[in-house]
Amino acid sequence: MSRLNAATIERYAKDFRVNHIDTDLSSPINIKTILTKLGILTLFRPLSEGLCGLSMRSTVNDRFILVNSNNNIGRQHFTVAHELYHLYYGTTTVPHICRVGGKEPEEVNADSFASALLMPETGLIQQIPSDEYKSGKISMATLLKTERLFGVSHDALLIRLSKLHIINDTTYQQLKSVIISSEAAQYGYDTSLYRPGNDGLYIGTLGEMAKKEFDRGKISEGHYLEILNMLPNEKQEG
Ligand SMILES: [Zn+2]
Repeated sequence: MSRLNAATIERYAKDFRVNHIDTDLSSPINIKTILTKLGILTLFRPLSEGLCGLSMRSTVNDRFILVNSNNNIGRQHFTVAHELYHLYYGTTTVPHICRVGGKEPEEVNADSFASALLMPETGLIQQIPSDEYKSGKISMATLLKTERLFGVSHDALLIRLSKLHIINDTTYQQLKSVIISSEAAQYGYDTSLYRPGNDGLYIGTLGEMAKKEFDRGKISEGHYLEILNMLPNEKQEG
């Protein structure tokens, strides 16, 4: 698939909210609740640096996501949203690995979708005081509050604000250079959003998807065992 324009991506994100997770177009979403609701088997495991996650969809539409628990929690939420794009709007059922800053058209599309899904424009603007919005000078207090509300990393929020032309390039660079966990601590916030976590967590039943396929006679016992072995060992990497 080719690179999609911004309007199409925004439409996908809205479609996903309305038709898949039954929510409005501006509220923050809870990633773990959504995964449970959608019945997507999701596993959080430490993976190599630079690797965000993996997703796959079976021929009968069972879905699976693997997330790198070494990344900060905000980044993990972004990875899940990125994989949701592949699972619901991608054209392939082949398992694939996603890395930070992937340049292929589908990777860029998935990143843009994740950004739009997690930080809907109207909901985001509602969080910014009007004087800050008008001047494009977003205060640290607003940034910290907004990152927590939408459950996103500092980088993800800044990229979204920049793409929506709420901040200019100079402000983007200034805000990007701060050590956000220190700022959060100074403001009295819990800093877990900016740190790794969720190691070993899984949502759904481990092996459920592979077992369903096996029960349907779609895959051999050998393949079933291979899938079960693959998940915790990230054998698909590379
Ligand atoms: Zn991807």
